[in-house]
Amino acid sequence: MKFNTKTIHGGQEHDKAYGAVMPPIYQTSTYAQSTPGGHKGFEYSRSQNPTRSALENALASIENGNFGLAFGSGLAAIDAVMKLLNPGDEVISTNDLYGGSYRLFTSIFERFGIKFHFVGMENAANIENYVNDNTKLIWVETPTNPMMNIIDIKAAAKIAKKHDLILTVDNTFATPYLQQPLDLGADIVMHSATKYLGGHSDVVMGALVVKDKDLADKLYFIQNASGAVCGPQDSFLVLRGIKTLHIRMQRHCENGRAVAEYLNNHPKIENVYWPGFESHPNHDIAKSQMNDFGGMVSFTTKGNSYEDAIKIVENLKVFTLAESLGGVESLAGHPASMTHASIPKEEREKTGVVDSLIRLSVGIEDEADLLEDLKQAIG
Ligand SMILES: *Cc1c(COP(=O)(O)O)cnc(C)c1O
Repeated sequence: MKFNTKTIHGGQEHDKAYGAVMPPIYQTSTYAQSTPGGHKGFEYSRSQNPTRSALENALASIENGNFGLAFGSGLAAIDAVMKLLNPGDEVISTNDLYGGSYRLFTSIFERFGIKFHFVGMENAANIENYVNDNTKLIWVETPTNPMMNIIDIKAAAKIAKKHDLILTVDNTFATPYLQQPLDLGADIVMHSATKYLGGHSDVVMGALVVKDKDLADKLYFIQNASGAVCGPQDSFLVLRGIKTLHIRMQRHCENGRAVAEYLNNHPKIENVYWPGFESHPNHDIAKSQMNDFGGMVSFTTKGNSYEDAIKIVENLKVFTLAESLGGVESLAGHPASMTHASIPKEEREKTGVVDSLIRLSVGIEDEADLLEDLKQAIG
């Protein structure tokens, strides 16, 4: 089955009870048993729920995995991955990564005795310098947030295989429409389904997909034992979102390209970060591991003034100033005052999060309206 069919049919079967074409929202916590243990595969909705199962099967299908697991948020999914580890274990993580992942690693899991190395992985060979006997897991986010760095997943997978490490890829920005990490050698794919998979900014959810049965069993045990599952209504919404993922992503990519090129030619704009440019340092890797370049674009203004950037995001009318990304509507964010405000200026500037950096999640509106909006806002 091709990807554009999988988004609609992958892992899905019609409802057994009445043949409903869309899986019903099984708004139930428990299931009747005929005799103790005599049930139809569903006992209690933390453990299993038919709407969640339908979603989990769809997730496995679109990521070319065998097992999908859905969680109450992206961070809950990451939390489950980290619970595979024990005190004393070490993780090698991308340095330019989602702020919430960084906070979870350093503020919670470091307290439980797990050590994190935050490493620039634009040159994947760099990863190997941090491998020692305690290393258990490599955490890759690509493209990165908000600098749009690209990490070579195949090269990271080679290092993971050589040292028997678990390679996890946060595939939130790319989605399986653009990039399929399991096929490139990753062991676990992670999503904030809140973003492109849900796609309509109306739900918070996380997901994991794996190929290996053993790993799936361990993660399922954690999902059930820790309990950070998502509800049936949210499962329904994300399943519905996935059905249009391919056509939404196609338009996100087209509009993303138009916005990136427009900004790149604008006299008041200094740098534009988008992996589709031939001048992007890892453009060749992006081209080889992604089918297109996505709808996320970051940029800085000439003079790098904090006030100028604030004015631009306040002036935008079609783009909404808001956290998050990946919805049908275009959003703009100012990392230095929003997502990265808690990181000291010196620290954030090391990874490129300067005062005038603006991050755009380019939506699927008409391209002309988006360009016109940027034009009037930048002035
Ligand atoms: C949003 C996001 C997360 C966290 O997901 P939530 O659903 O907000 O918990 C993790 N990684 C990336 C890349 C994200 O954008």
